[in-house]
Amino acid sequence: MSLPQLTTIVAMSAAKTADLAVVGLGAFGAAVAYQATALGLDVVGFDSYHPPHDFGSSHAETRVTRLAVGEGAHYVPFAQRSHEIWREVGAATGSVLLHDYGGLIIAPTGASSDERWGSFVDDTATVAAAADLDFEQLSAAESRVRFPNLLVGDDEVVGREPTAGTVMADEAIAAQLHLANDGGADLRFGSTVTGLGRSEGRPIVRTSDGDIAARHVVVAAGAWAPSFHDSERLRVTRQVVFWFEAENLETWRPDHVSFAIWARESIDEYLGVFGAPWGGIPGVKVLGEQFVDTTSPEAVDRTVSPTEIATFYERMVEPRLSGLTPHCVKTAVCLYTNTDDDHFLIDAHPQHPDVTVVSACSGHGFKHSAAIGEALARRAAGHDHLDLTPFHRDRF
Ligand SMILES: Cc1cc2nc3c(=O)[nH]c(=O)nc-3n(C[C@H](O)[C@H](O)[C@H](O)COP(=O)(O)OP(=O)(O)OC[C@H]3O[C@@H](n4cnc5c(N)ncnc54)[C@H](O)[C@@H]3O)c2cc1C
Repeated sequence: MSLPQLTTIVAMSAAKTADLAVVGLGAFGAAVAYQATALGLDVVGFDSYHPPHDFGSSHAETRVTRLAVGEGAHYVPFAQRSHEIWREVGAATGSVLLHDYGGLIIAPTGASSDERWGSFVDDTATVAAAADLDFEQLSAAESRVRFPNLLVGDDEVVGREPTAGTVMADEAIAAQLHLANDGGADLRFGSTVTGLGRSEGRPIVRTSDGDIAARHVVVAAGAWAPSFHDSERLRVTRQVVFWFEAENLETWRPDHVSFAIWARESIDEYLGVFGAPWGGIPGVKVLGEQFVDTTSPEAVDRTVSPTEIATFYERMVEPRLSGLTPHCVKTAVCLYTNTDDDHFLIDAHPQHPDVTVVSACSGHGFKHSAAIGEALARRAAGHDHLDLTPFHRDRF
């Protein structure tokens, strides 16, 4: 897919009109399309591929979800509402999208509060207390007894949130698209949006199939967002997910270890591990994070070399996790899109007040996607809902 040049305002005419056009039907676009259709809006949605797919930011089966969101108290209502929505959508589609078995976060003891990551357990405890959410802190010794697969260091503290868990990412997208389609949304897969413009005071979405005029447009283009807006502000990075063979998969049961995240001072030391197996992959899913090498969906290397696997195992897995072998049964390459402060960007398009852009595809967006989709759909229908102003551009 080539990069469309989309920020020029041009006059266009449109053959079809809709209440709401949604550009990108991944985690956020699927949620917007589903919620807007449920509100009775006439919705048309476009995606270059057929989500869920493996080319953006929402694949690799599972995502961590936490109600005590240490990234900031303003996220809590979105995570809470998303949990409710995933239960509703799961009930409507006969699937279990949310497994709230609890989750663990691990950080150094005594980290200073101005550390971005190192104080994550303390930050999360503060948010949990303010939101009246259960959150317990375990010493390294206590944690090693309860979770022997996690080699927690003596200088580390573990936070456990019983209401945290795992959301089935690909399935959640598919379920919301299914309901949107059943509700009458016009979902156009394999249809790339190549331009945004205006006609008669309304936004126009240009695709290879023709132009659509809409009262409102939501652009939820994930890692393709920089071709639509804020290219100077958004950085796309390559992230790798590994599944390593377990000596005894039973000890990684997700109802025992749903997920654990190591958040030390340096992002190089970040490690996430999930319970297993979820979707039949006979391995334990682990991932790190990196923000140094920027890329694009077109340029990214989607292969993972044996050296990359071996290095990750030796540096990240072996010192922290017991019972995993160096044998990697599967890998996936996924994309983050981050702002400088790692918080979301949800605001009007710089040149189109009736186009809302949602770039929430940093490493912590999925858990809020269902509720942010609902908030954007309600906004398009003229109703106020959860407060999106913390994600506006004017904070930079
Ligand atoms: C490895 C990894 C781990 C993560 N872990 C977590 C986690 O544990 N917890 C958490 O909360 N979050 C996590 N995240 C973040 C979360 O997954 C993302 O925030 C979220 O999935 C982003 O969704 P999106 O809708 O913005 O992007 P996507 O789901 O990628 O959707 C964008 C869609 O737009 C379409 N598109 C783009 N351009 C066009 C165009 N011109 N025309 C038509 N269609 C277009 C694409 O085809 C794509 O389908 C993680 C992300 C990654 C990569």
